[in-house]
Amino acid sequence: MNNKVSERGKIVIIVAPSGTGKSTLIKRLKEEFRDLHWSVSFTTRPMREGEVDGKHYFYISQDEFLKKKDQGDFIEWAEVHGNYYGTSLGFVSSKVNHGYSLLFDLDVQGADNMKKQFGDEARAIFIAPPSLDALEERLRGRGTEEEDVIKLRLENARGELSRKDDYDYIVINDELDKAYSDLKNVVTKILDNDED
Ligand code: ADP
Ligand code: 5GP
Repeated sequence: MNNKVSERGKIVIIVAPSGTGKSTLIKRLKEEFRDLHWSVSFTTRPMREGEVDGKHYFYISQDEFLKKKDQGDFIEWAEVHGNYYGTSLGFVSSKVNHGYSLLFDLDVQGADNMKKQFGDEARAIFIAPPSLDALEERLRGRGTEEEDVIKLRLENARGELSRKDDYDYIVINDELDKAYSDLKNVVTKILDNDED
């Protein structure tokens, strides 16, 4: 599949409460949609086991983050679950201006901000868990966060879930293969300019 076009690229945003399964689904999307470029964000959160600097995030200190923010290096940034996250302005504009479509993993603030800046050029897909109980089970099952961080992420999930109908598409991640198939259909429609 080649989605490089002469016009500007598309901005595909995945937004979901922590623990919903968004990274799992995004990993599959990246494997299948080779021409959908991944926007690697900057973050101040500690690296998780298995994560790679420059692949999952660029991991930087709070001082470095604030300096980059003040220099205007971020097209959007937000404080999420007590850490800073930001999207590189240079990377996004160079890719999109050259017709490459980009995939983003953003929180609700980031998705809102990108929609404000890019309008309909940015398409946001909300991934929802089947229930809050399922979300809690997944977050605990992943085993990557301490109890206080899990509590904070669950608390924030309630607020984020109340925004689920505010985006362009919603996909429920109950059964993983079904959710991936739904997500793939939506992304294909967006990239093929085939939206209703
Ligand atoms: P997120 O990126 O949204 O924080 P992850 O992709 O890390 O979430 O998924 C959280 C946990 O839930 C992981 O252990 C993952 O394997 C598991 N998971 C993802 N999707 C499903 C699903 N449909 N059913 C059950 N478990 C899932
Ligand atoms: P995690 O720490 O689990 O990787 O991500 C926590 C939250 O930060 C998720 O909701 C994720 O979507 C969001 N996030 C990741 N990168 C960015 C970014 O560059 N900007 C914003 N606004 N949110 C981000």
